[in-house]
Amino acid sequence: MRIQATLAVATVCLATACGTTTGQQPVSPGSGTSVSQQTAQGTTSPTPAPSPTDTAPPKFSAKVSKVTREQVKHSWRPGCPVPLDGLRMITMTYWGFDGEPHTGRLVVNKDATEAITTVFGRLYDWRWPIYKMEPVDAYKGDDFDSIDANNTSAFNCRAATGSSHWSQHAYGRAVDINPRENPYVSADGSVAHKNARKFAKRPVDAPGVINPGDRVVKAFARVGWGWGGDWSGVKDYQHFSAGGN
Ligand SMILES: [Zn+2]
Repeated sequence: MRIQATLAVATVCLATACGTTTGQQPVSPGSGTSVSQQTAQGTTSPTPAPSPTDTAPPKFSAKVSKVTREQVKHSWRPGCPVPLDGLRMITMTYWGFDGEPHTGRLVVNKDATEAITTVFGRLYDWRWPIYKMEPVDAYKGDDFDSIDANNTSAFNCRAATGSSHWSQHAYGRAVDINPRENPYVSADGSVAHKNARKFAKRPVDAPGVINPGDRVVKAFARVGWGWGGDWSGVKDYQHFSAGGN
């Protein structure tokens, strides 16, 4: 059956004042990082907010919308364990490695939107940096390329690494965060991505790294999501999922 495309758009606002999302941040010219500059788009403020905090970054905002076939043309196909109608696009702010707010997008299961926006709202409030956040379709659904680009992403209709079973990513109930700083480490200690090798051990004191017991792990635990860094044998430091697997 075809999906009835009534584009129900729900706006999730975790910060008290969503309306104060002013959108644009001045771009500091001296920023030497290589993060591609994205426009921090947001909802236009309905009421002007004249305040001395005009230069403060926008509050965290997250918008949840339905996913079109076109948006997931590489990562979803008929036969995937979740129908297209069971997926949602979260468009939300995140804090970049360049110390600036950005707007990113994550595709997740519709039953995962609350958990994800809750945790990413916390990360944003902590100014905890995320390198990049775009759906894996930006890499034609290629997980390796997405990871190589240090991209944070969630839904991808694929098997689990080294397995013939669906990954939790195929259900939209898993997210990989800063995969360069948080690599997948095989049981023999090897890391497939060259750019991630220096992050194979824990703990590492560097921006965007997830260490055992730290607040990122706790924030996910509070919404019932487990961390791949807690697995025995294989360690998947970038990976959080609803079932913990
Ligand atoms: Zn993962």
